[in-house]
Amino acid sequence: MQKDQLFTRRGALLAGAAAVGAAGTASVFARGTGAGTPAGPGAPAPGAPAHRLPMKPSAYRLQPLTGYGPPRGAAARTPVRSEPLLRITGRGRAMVLTFDDGPDPRYTPDILDTLAAYDVHAMFFVCGEMAAHHPELLARMADEGHTVGNHTWSHPLLTKLTRRQIRSEMTRTSEVIENAYGERPRWFRAPYGAWNRAAFQLGSELGMESLAWTVDTLDWTSPGTGTIVDRVENGAAPGVVVLSHDAGGDRTQSVRALRRYLPQLLDSGYHITVPRRQHT
Ligand SMILES: [Zn+2]
Repeated sequence: MQKDQLFTRRGALLAGAAAVGAAGTASVFARGTGAGTPAGPGAPAPGAPAHRLPMKPSAYRLQPLTGYGPPRGAAARTPVRSEPLLRITGRGRAMVLTFDDGPDPRYTPDILDTLAAYDVHAMFFVCGEMAAHHPELLARMADEGHTVGNHTWSHPLLTKLTRRQIRSEMTRTSEVIENAYGERPRWFRAPYGAWNRAAFQLGSELGMESLAWTVDTLDWTSPGTGTIVDRVENGAAPGVVVLSHDAGGDRTQSVRALRRYLPQLLDSGYHITVPRRQHT
């Protein structure tokens, strides 16, 4: 993924994104625990909505889309943005946790276990080449109510690709996600946060909204578990979208950090949720 080589480029892009400010927001869809009361491990929320009840994975994923809405595969167009959404809006102290570059069987299951222990949902921006090798992890994300987004096939710097190449990166990944997760992704995140006009246009054509992030844990630099925890907790605020990774290298620190900051965020009164699309 050449992250090290692109560190400077990435930093510049992030600085640019920060300069944009809080212009872009997505609204919150607080699903999961009703009153926002965090359920600790082994203490499932008594009022858990029906969709959290166990169901046969195959029945869930293979359920045909009939009746309302666009037919399967015909994604609704979304607005063509000129900058990605950076945070979410909504009532209360809602935050979104996002995990990029996976799935990786060495780390993703641990992250899913922790999220399940606290009965919260997160977003996973997966790469097609990873998802193609581990469709069972996308199936688990579907079964456990998480949102899966498109993070391209091979994690390239889109600004160096042709429009045709970008389209291929996006469409192949959406197809893999649809097959493994059960529905097409409705969210897109450009690798390194490097969007361009073609990426926004193609994302719109494929029915995906563009979501960046508010707080970057920089966990891929392996700064230490405690540092990752500190970055999340210092950055915590209503509407914040946190960027972490469940693949792309040794993500042991990311896994351990989640176990520490997630209960602390919940104890501080934050709802961990996934965003709802403004345009459906
Ligand atoms: Zn990435």
